[in-house]
Amino acid sequence: MSRPDKIAIVTGASRGIGRTIALRLAKEGADLVVTATTFASANKVAGEIEQLGRKALAFALNVAEIRECESLVKTTLEKFSRIDILINNAGVTSDNLLIRMKEEEWDKVIDVNLKGTFNCIRASTKTFMKQRAGKIINITSVVGISGNAGQANYSASKAGVIGLTKSVARELAPRNIQVNAVAPGYIETDMTKSLPDDVMQTLIDAIPLRRMGTTEDVASLVSFLASENSDYITGQIISVDGGMVM
Ligand code: NDP
Repeated sequence: MSRPDKIAIVTGASRGIGRTIALRLAKEGADLVVTATTFASANKVAGEIEQLGRKALAFALNVAEIRECESLVKTTLEKFSRIDILINNAGVTSDNLLIRMKEEEWDKVIDVNLKGTFNCIRASTKTFMKQRAGKIINITSVVGISGNAGQANYSASKAGVIGLTKSVARELAPRNIQVNAVAPGYIETDMTKSLPDDVMQTLIDAIPLRRMGTTEDVASLVSFLASENSDYITGQIISVDGGMVM
């Protein structure tokens, strides 16, 4: 897919799904703003993007803080003058059974995954509206659709992202801004590598395509949703999960 001179922001781009998305968009010709919780890890990916011949800006960001998201947008506009694509990928887990879940575990996951997605959309919406064009892609999860024992906080945050996606899609459609969400299943990243082998095997047995997904599997759909090939698609939640949720 060709993407000449598009400007894309990817949150949580230091590793895993976000890093692969950022590198994919760069390979397709976009310039990138990449964020992580520390400047050093965002800057590492920015260096990899520059190696591909594209421009990159590294930004240290806690998505849970709206002021920091506003500053991200301001800095992006100072450097690139526009924003074409916003990928809300930053996310965390803090798993526990409901009976043991602490208030802090609930708050942290909701603050980063749900409020963080709202914060970045809120901070960039004026720019998208003025441009009368833009693509917002939120990374949710299949467990936001199906629920998951031990992940009440995470599932609720991701279900919230689904409602947010649909509402914002309706609000921004008259300005030619498409808002969609991608719902990955089990993808090989730091987030899933700590699962014990027997748990992993049980999970794989429940996936119709009988394998974990790769970050490239997710990036392929994001690449499509960030392109003009998806101009008539908005408010959709599309799973990349090997058929787990049908
Ligand atoms: P990783 O744990 O590999 O990476 C998470 C990224 O988010 C890192 O770049 C991290 O930065 C960043 N981040 C964490 N906290 C914050 C914060 N408060 N503010 C800004 N950035 C933050 O995650 P994955 O690649 O596995 O997941 C990416 C997205 O995909 C998440 O939203 C996740 O919920 C979702 N997802 C993942 C699945 C999977 O199987 N892996 C399945 C379904 C959905 P730093 O490096 O500085 O910590």
